[in-house]
Amino acid sequence: RAKAAGRGTYRFFEPEMDTRLQERRLLERDLRQALAEGQLEVHYQPLVECNSEALLGFEALVRWRHPERGQVPPSEFIPVAEESGLIIQLGEWVMRTACREAAKWPGDQRIAINLSPVQFRHADLAHKILTIVEQTGLAPERLELEITEGVLIEDTEHTLATLSLLKSAGIRVSLDDFGTGYSSLSYLQRFPFDKIKIDRSFVWEMGRNADSMAIVRSVIALGRSLRITVIAEGVETPEQLALLQSEQCDQVQGFLLGRPVPARDLTQLMTDAETAAAE
Ligand code: C2E
Ligand code: MG
Ligand code: MG
Ligand code: MG
Repeated sequence: RAKAAGRGTYRFFEPEMDTRLQERRLLERDLRQALAEGQLEVHYQPLVECNSEALLGFEALVRWRHPERGQVPPSEFIPVAEESGLIIQLGEWVMRTACREAAKWPGDQRIAINLSPVQFRHADLAHKILTIVEQTGLAPERLELEITEGVLIEDTEHTLATLSLLKSAGIRVSLDDFGTGYSSLSYLQRFPFDKIKIDRSFVWEMGRNADSMAIVRSVIALGRSLRITVIAEGVETPEQLALLQSEQCDQVQGFLLGRPVPARDLTQLMTDAETAAAE
């Protein structure tokens, strides 16, 4: 850019940085609008019992169809939402929408909802969640909150207090993307998680890489001895499912068992599951 010319090395780096910043700013502006205009949607992906393949619940995953760009993946807009603070509003919207939806289901399937570390910076997160649970009439025992290690890196005391409060109300807490962070094991010691979600990178490699298989096997054993439910994410093939069944993993999630679907497709899914269970 002309403005930067003559400022030595900056000239080489600025245009690229500038484009990225600009891109983020545009995305932030559009996301703000999306929240205001209801362009966001929640999709639901089945959580399934590993051996019986019985339907246990669903994970809520936010979706954004941008009017010009089409579907923008969460991996692109969640970071923007986190940096801009919009995640507070977005997270609350997902929580309210998913709890309201789950409260209408005929069965008592679980609803799992992702929380961003940024949401924990606000003092009233627990109060907000408890209020939504109460207002939507969802039994708190049906709610599972998914957090990643990032949550526990920040203000640990406050985070643990928040999680404990939610747990004492009957809400369950899962450690998401297990194995991808720096100190997953120490987190298991610091907080009584109800569930460990083995990251899909391990599941993906399982059949071809002996080390990944060993890791998956160890995490399943770890869960068993700590009495924590273990779920494997990203199960895509019958071979992966068979391996996890032979290792007696508790639960599975992945495209093989079901892709994330909009709320309007859930009734059919749940009816099919009931029919299958009755057979
Ligand atoms: P996550 O919580 O680990 O969610 C699982 C991701 O894996 C989802 O991606 C899901 O669509 C994808 N997935 C499920 N099964 C398979 C499979 O068999 N193969 C493959 N390749 N992928 C599979 P998605 O929906 O793109 O979300 C990505 C991440 O964005 C989530 O990872 C979560 O960290 C975040 N996210 C999504 N929705 C929300 C939300 O409402 N709030 C917050 N804070 N984060 C969210
Ligand atoms: Mg998750
Ligand atoms: Mg995950
Ligand atoms: Mg993930």
